[in-house]
Amino acid sequence: MWIRHCDQMNIEDKLYQLRPMNCPYHILVYKRKLHSYREFPIRVAELGTIYRYELSGTLHGLFRVRGFTQDDAHIFCLEDQIKGEIRGVLDLTEEILLQFGFNKYEVSLSTRPEKFVGTDDIWEKATIALREALEDEGWDYQIDEGGGAFYGPKIDLKIEDALGRKWQCSTVQVDFNLPQRFDISYVDSNSERRQPIMIHRAILGSLERFFGVLIEHYAGDFPLWISPIQARVLPVTDTEVKYCKEVVLKLKSKGIRAELCQGIA
Ligand SMILES: [Zn+2]
Repeated sequence: MWIRHCDQMNIEDKLYQLRPMNCPYHILVYKRKLHSYREFPIRVAELGTIYRYELSGTLHGLFRVRGFTQDDAHIFCLEDQIKGEIRGVLDLTEEILLQFGFNKYEVSLSTRPEKFVGTDDIWEKATIALREALEDEGWDYQIDEGGGAFYGPKIDLKIEDALGRKWQCSTVQVDFNLPQRFDISYVDSNSERRQPIMIHRAILGSLERFFGVLIEHYAGDFPLWISPIQARVLPVTDTEVKYCKEVVLKLKSKGIRAELCQGIA
């Protein structure tokens, strides 16, 4: 819908087309109908793909790729729902990261930069909501004064791997800009049109990058549940091959990712 002919680019003899991030598409989902204040919060999520033209020399394993998948979601809510929604995102983040074995985080709250959109009042309210959400959760955090995006304050989270290295992972950002630019609204209790708050959030961030971090964290020795191969059956001599195949089939039938180690016997 926003794509115009001039957004095409010729790179390495191939024609590419610029496309927006996932956010505007979620706004289109929101705009399909008129919303009442009673419907909030409205949450839209997808595993959305993002592409960047990274120079070939800067590509690096799973950490820096040209196409990646983000666990992207947008929450449309009322001003007084910001804190509750942020707490929900922080809870979900903790739950998911703990499942993957990450229990050390570095959390920062970034506040209003010099250039910004939105009123002082809304910045103040949103920043207090983010701060209270972190405090209610009992999370330690640092304040990055003036480090917010021009469109709103945010919370960023870095995870620490087994070697103590830190990786940027989850982000939750309040946005006062896109609701205004895309002119989205809802009908409040006085039947008046008002603008909702938009929150962008990603928990794992880039899935490719997250799996890169996981491989580093576990040095390839994954916990059983995420191991690509969960069981290997090794015949000691050729005579057991037939039986081992049966064992592999039995394991597979129970949903276990198993394989026969051939060439060892
Ligand atoms: Zn977004």
